[in-house]
Amino acid sequence: MTGWTRLGLDVSRCVGVGQCELLEPDLFRVDDDTGTATIVGEPELPSQRAKAIVDQCPSGAIQIDNNINPTLPKLPDTD
Ligand code: SF4
Repeated sequence: MTGWTRLGLDVSRCVGVGQCELLEPDLFRVDDDTGTATIVGEPELPSQRAKAIVDQCPSGAIQIDNNINPTLPKLPDTD
């Protein structure tokens, strides 16, 4: 799988475990008041990473956003 994938969040399914915030703190934040996650950054990730995030959300709240098919430029390598 190559390219970039946009993620969506179904807050109604979120159980507040916080795995998403742990894995991608620049994208997800668990709100202390509501106990659910919110998206705080642009939710586009390299497709393999996006799939890993989806797989590790225990409630299925994080999903591939199929409504958007971004043609994002590739980020330059930082190595
Ligand atoms: S990993 Fe899933 S269930 Fe856990 S806080 Fe994030 S969105 Fe909610």
